[in-house]
Amino acid sequence: MTTPTIVLVGHGMVGQRFLEALADRGVTKASRVVVLCEEPRPAYDRVRLTSYFSGKTPEDLSMVEAGFMAEHGIELHVGDPAVAVDREARTVTARSGLTVAYDTLVLATGSYPFVPPVPGKDAGGCFVYRTIEDLLAIEEYAMTSRVGAVVGGGLLGLEAAGALKGLGLETHVVEFAPRLMPVQVDEGGGAALRRTIQDMGVTVHTGVGTQEITTAEDGSVAAMKLSDGSALDTDLVVFSAGVRPRDQLARECGLPVGERGGIVVDEQCRTEDGMVYAIGECALASDGRVYGLVAPGYEMAETAAKAIAGQEGSFTGADLSTKLKLLGVDVASFGDAHGTADGSLDIVYSDTRSGVYKKLVVSSDGVLLGGILVGDAEQYGTLRAFTGSVPPVSCEQLVLPAGAGAPVALGPSALPDEAVICSCHNVTKGAITAHATLAEVKKCTKAGTGCGSCVKVLGQLLPAPADKGLCGCFAQTRQELYEIVLALRVTTHAELLDRHGREAARGGDGCEICKPAVASIIASLATALGASVHVLDGEQAALQDTNDHFLANLQKNGSYSIVPRIPGGEITPAKLIVIGEVARDFGLYTKITGGQRIDLFGARVEQLPMIWTRLVDAGFESGHAYGKSLRTVKSCVGQTWCRYGVQDSVRMAIDLELRYRGLRSPHKLKSAVSGCARECAEAQSKDFGIIATASGWNLYVGGNGGATPRHADLLAQDLSDAELVRLIDRFLMFYIRTADRLERTSVWLDRLDGGLEHVRDVVVHDSLGICDELEALMAAHVAGYRDEWADTINDPERLARFVSFVNAPDVPDPSVKFVPERDQVKPDLQLLAGPVLPIRTLEGTPAS
Ligand SMILES: Cc1cc2nc3c(=O)[nH]c(=O)nc-3n(C[C@H](O)[C@H](O)[C@H](O)COP(=O)(O)OP(=O)(O)OC[C@H]3O[C@@H](n4cnc5c(N)ncnc54)[C@H](O)[C@@H]3O)c2cc1C
Repeated sequence: MTTPTIVLVGHGMVGQRFLEALADRGVTKASRVVVLCEEPRPAYDRVRLTSYFSGKTPEDLSMVEAGFMAEHGIELHVGDPAVAVDREARTVTARSGLTVAYDTLVLATGSYPFVPPVPGKDAGGCFVYRTIEDLLAIEEYAMTSRVGAVVGGGLLGLEAAGALKGLGLETHVVEFAPRLMPVQVDEGGGAALRRTIQDMGVTVHTGVGTQEITTAEDGSVAAMKLSDGSALDTDLVVFSAGVRPRDQLARECGLPVGERGGIVVDEQCRTEDGMVYAIGECALASDGRVYGLVAPGYEMAETAAKAIAGQEGSFTGADLSTKLKLLGVDVASFGDAHGTADGSLDIVYSDTRSGVYKKLVVSSDGVLLGGILVGDAEQYGTLRAFTGSVPPVSCEQLVLPAGAGAPVALGPSALPDEAVICSCHNVTKGAITAHATLAEVKKCTKAGTGCGSCVKVLGQLLPAPADKGLCGCFAQTRQELYEIVLALRVTTHAELLDRHGREAARGGDGCEICKPAVASIIASLATALGASVHVLDGEQAALQDTNDHFLANLQKNGSYSIVPRIPGGEITPAKLIVIGEVARDFGLYTKITGGQRIDLFGARVEQLPMIWTRLVDAGFESGHAYGKSLRTVKSCVGQTWCRYGVQDSVRMAIDLELRYRGLRSPHKLKSAVSGCARECAEAQSKDFGIIATASGWNLYVGGNGGATPRHADLLAQDLSDAELVRLIDRFLMFYIRTADRLERTSVWLDRLDGGLEHVRDVVVHDSLGICDELEALMAAHVAGYRDEWADTINDPERLARFVSFVNAPDVPDPSVKFVPERDQVKPDLQLLAGPVLPIRTLEGTPAS
């Protein structure tokens, strides 16, 4: 028997889901599967396309797990679209000339953006918003543009407007209908949305059409003529006026398509030709609809895979509920949102001050039929799950905000087991609560891996982890210990352990986990606690990580490196000369670091105070390269020297580095400031990164280089200097307060319930009411900052520890040896091959 061949045309979101559904059913093992993919890369998350502009890379957006194709023996041809189907011969031909014979053909070709036939629509500077390539082109064109206009104020139009705003353009949205998002929201919701979006600086024009794009001499966009006779000067236009199913292949091979497009399929997603299926946005489902959302597409993918595997399944239609965040505004609609059912009644809550609008549609006997939420969609998951039933509390209570006289004590626990919690993957509450952890739920059910809007509810449904304690000594998390230290003004690890440690640990010394973690908490709160804490004093000295013992980084051969602070990477020639002289006089290897400062390697312990005395005299201070604290704030040269720069990035970098220097945190902190969107300082790979815009600064958070890189997320845009500093103050203090030990901001952000949105709620919208406190704590840190090295060289007691051997203070460490290389020194590798790391006797540890 020959192996049957399945050909999939289109490797988008639904196509990939179809492949996974085939693999889950073992079909990939028994068949040859060939995929023709038009785009230059495998399937990626189109729903999150816009996150490319907040730093996600195309790789981040990929939906294909590494090794998936190889593991399942799937042949993927990227950049090679199907151009013809011969149903008689049962072959598909690709643009490259490749012809594949199929037993089963699955069309998953998605949609194309509709561009209204207005004159000038093909001018240079006109774009659509569908693929990563579209975004790359928009990004490049925006660099030389000032104004951008989006044609279409629907879901995708507002996403595109957000993107243009983020690229620093003056942004306009032109919508033909009398309100924004006419499909999803009603008049009231549209008005609330418009107000909030206008407050963000996007100009909204509703009730007007685009008549013509006029062009400049070079053929590029110059202006848009609108149907009310007005004109809008613009450099760039994004068409976002709806999508149309890509059904051309089907039409050409004689398969029936709908009047308004879409490949006609039955309940098994089969076309008229039993060997050909169509799924996703290209299909006209058996209920006569073309679905433009991903969740119904996924259901179709599962249905087709089941049919091919000989299993039962059908797709008869889907819920069009959606919850979105557009330009930072929550917008959701579910069920019969427009109240089309006979006799339906509306319950409306509207607060124009805060831009919150909520409407529930109910039947006369109290059944919840649908609703619209704008500005606050917190209750979306719960409301959606109760749709079609009478909720256990009154509908009024469900729309009123907490604190407005009718707080709702209705959480996800009140939902029935069959309530769908993840609508992207159609996962019910019962299926979720069968698992113990979020990781397990995501892996086994895929819930939470689609649009992500249900992740918060998932967290509420799952049991809390058993022991969240920091270590064997403390049953509390790091965050809880932080709260205890702050509230009870605890200034020593010993006191914290004795009063709040686990019973068995009380009276002991603590362990290698809690000692540095508690030391870091106390150090970051020192001034606020009224404590004078120097890392080399008293108990603090014994608690620190290895590098903090000598305020320098221990290197490979037992020598130390020295990194003076060079704020923003700016340094005078006189200071450069001092560094050169110190390096020469002490024979130190000298290297410029990736953080725009100068690292001096090869110092012996006893040389550190002498070296630092000269550096401090010349005006240098500790660069904290050794501590879990702020490292550097890199910068490009900014508008002062660079012709692209739009703000003074150097000044801002210096201000920030001086403000946050010495701030002890759960892990090291890195930052950078770029003077324009070209991003020469690489701010998006930093814990907090700043990129200048024409009207201020964009703040990115949670970036990381290193072994597990992560692009930072955009937290807020177009901030003034003062707003920027205030937000960073809050962000850093919130991180220090809530992160785990040794947790970088990137990991913390991904772990936090609600992720970036939660952080934004807390630090931008002050949802917890703690921002004053966070700012006060940072102000205390700034006021209390002292240079650790200046303090150390002026204190004989602290200096006493800088010896290689405490029992023989005058003896230099003989194992620290160097050999020459490229006119400098390097560690003697022959010596390093042996067991040479010196055994030092540290304070409090017996000599051995
Ligand atoms: C910016 C944006 C935001 C969105 N936000 C949301 C949201 O919040 N919620 C939601 O539910 N939906 C959202 N959507 C819609 C969602 O992305 C689509 O519903 C989903 O991608 C449909 O999947 P699909 O596989 O049918 O089509 P696609 O993902 O478009 O994939 C189709 C693929 O087929 C390829 N193709 C076409 N013709 C051929 C050919 N002849 N040969 C080979 N390949 C071909 C295309 O190049 C494409 O790669 C959004 C869409 C965009 C653009």
